[in-house]
Amino acid sequence: IAIGSGKGGVGKSTLTANIAAALSKSGLKVGILDADIYGPSQPKIMGVHGKPKIGGADGKSILPLHGYGITLMSMGFLVDADEAVVWRGPMLMGALQQFMGQVDWGELDVLLIDLPPGTGDVQLTLAQKCELDGAIIVSTPQDVALIDAKKAMQMFYKLKIPLLGMVENMSTHVCPNCGYEEHMFGKGGVQAEAKKAQLDFLGAIPLDIEVRKSSDFGKPVVFSNFEGSQSEAFKQIANKLADKLNIS
Ligand code: ADP
Repeated sequence: IAIGSGKGGVGKSTLTANIAAALSKSGLKVGILDADIYGPSQPKIMGVHGKPKIGGADGKSILPLHGYGITLMSMGFLVDADEAVVWRGPMLMGALQQFMGQVDWGELDVLLIDLPPGTGDVQLTLAQKCELDGAIIVSTPQDVALIDAKKAMQMFYKLKIPLLGMVENMSTHVCPNCGYEEHMFGKGGVQAEAKKAQLDFLGAIPLDIEVRKSSDFGKPVVFSNFEGSQSEAFKQIANKLADKLNIS
């Protein structure tokens, strides 16, 4: 399942990690492929660092790393955290194809793919080289994000990848001091877009400091505070996804 958005910084990686956490907590075997080759965030969010080893049954496979029971592969494991990946297209595609074809993922119920922003080479390669069961679009409710989200939707239509639904991130912020609810990035924009496009609206995730802090700390909020209110939206989205995919 690909998690895409068009625009960067709207919460793809956060959503991917937390949905993975919720699905894993429900007993499924989950993997994350961090396909954001230029800006991989999953090692930081999942608190997993190290270099993958080569091995497996054929002795030539790339062995993924694991965090909180989730199987992980990311460009971030292959380059140093503060090193920039300055690659041309063919090198990039080579890395991606290795991630798809040579990683010994083991037995998984679901593999979530954290896409980079945009509608370019990585998305095309993924769609052409592996059989995706579907994609989720995440966006904030503001217009600049929705414009790019719509482009991402068009791309998935063109690539004939089923869209499983849309998620609104950073939809509301409740002041922890006074309880005042603010719609920082507007209200209901993603839900309205989902309705227009006749897609399922999978849920809305509030803008919450715990979500950001736990990701920066290296333990997604669904793992660090499973019963907390911040985890609720992620759990609901994961449940809907599992139902749709018949993997619950
Ligand atoms: P993307 O993968 O789309 O680039 P990220 O998941 O990296 O976006 O999120 C961008 C930033 O916003 C990160 O610092 C992340 O911790 C923060 N963030 C994402 N979603 C939320 C949220 N619901 N509440 C608070 N911070 C969030």
